[in-house]
This record gives sequence, structure tokens and C-alpha cells, in this order.
Amino acid sequence: MIPNKETSRRRSSRKERGEGSPKGGLAASLHLRGMRVTPQKLAVFTVLQRANYHPTPDMVFAEVRRQYPMISLGTVYQILDQFSRIGVARKMFSGGNRQRFDGNRQPHAHFVCEHCGRIDDVEHHLVQAFARRFAQKFKGTIRHHYFEFSGLCARCAPRHWVRKRLE
Ligand SMILES: [Zn+2]
Ligand SMILES: [Zn+2]
Repeated sequence: MIPNKETSRRRSSRKERGEGSPKGGLAASLHLRGMRVTPQKLAVFTVLQRANYHPTPDMVFAEVRRQYPMISLGTVYQILDQFSRIGVARKMFSGGNRQRFDGNRQPHAHFVCEHCGRIDDVEHHLVQAFARRFAQKFKGTIRHHYFEFSGLCARCAPRHWVRKRLE
């Protein structure tokens, strides 16, 4: 089991790894492809940067709407689609059948809680090492990898245990 402390510590040190300002990163990614930077795109991007947050388009919409009441859900979908095409965000296929997006661009795995559905990032050098080794042996082209652990998160595990004992 990979402790959550490790995740948050590694996550908070993003700046130390010299990635610069995240908004600067978005502008560069968009400009490179001749795409415009809009305040709405920046707002969506900011929502995606929150640690361990893997929101659905509706969740992003609800938040961005507070700042930009005129924005439509369709626009949010378009922005998220654009972001996943250019690698600014990643489409995820876990946490039920709802589409979720991930703004963490570091190679990482996920831990999905089977009880509350929370999805935590698990950043570990072994994830990257494994992906690299696998790619060396694989004859095709690998564009993404997806590692997922599942079980009960630190909050749900004790409750689950108590309930089990009472039943
Ligand atoms: Zn949980
Ligand atoms: Zn993630």
C-alpha cells in the first residue's frame, strides 16, 4: 500500500521540479498549436490543477460557472476535449461510467476508493520506471499508460471495518 502522505508531499513539490507556473504552461501548449487562450480556458485549467481532483465535466461546469455565469456546459465539454487532445488534461475511464478528467500531467497511478469513489493520485518513480521498461519491450507505440489500484481509502477503511463487525 502506498501511503497518502507520499502522494501529497510529492504533489506539493511540483514547483520545485521546475515546471514553472501552470498557467504559463497552458498558454504555451495552446499557442504552440495556434489555439487561443481565453479566460474560460484558464478557469477550466485552474479547476483541473487541484490536487487529487478528477472532476466530471459537470463538476468543472459548476465551478467555472460561478466565475463565468454565461458559460455553457457545451463550451466546458469543448474545452476539456481540446485539453485532452493537446495533452493538457487526460480523459479517465474509471470511477464509474462518468467521464472524468485529470489535469495532473506527471506520470502517475490512481487509487480509486470502491466505497466513496474518491480518486487519489499516486506518484511514484516506479510507475514511470515500469512504463518505460514495458515500452522498451513492446513493439507498437504506447501513447499513454493507465495504472489503477482500488480498495478502501483511509477514511472509508475504518468505517467499513466497524460496519462489518456490527452486521
Ligand atoms: Zn473512500
Ligand atoms: Zn490523476
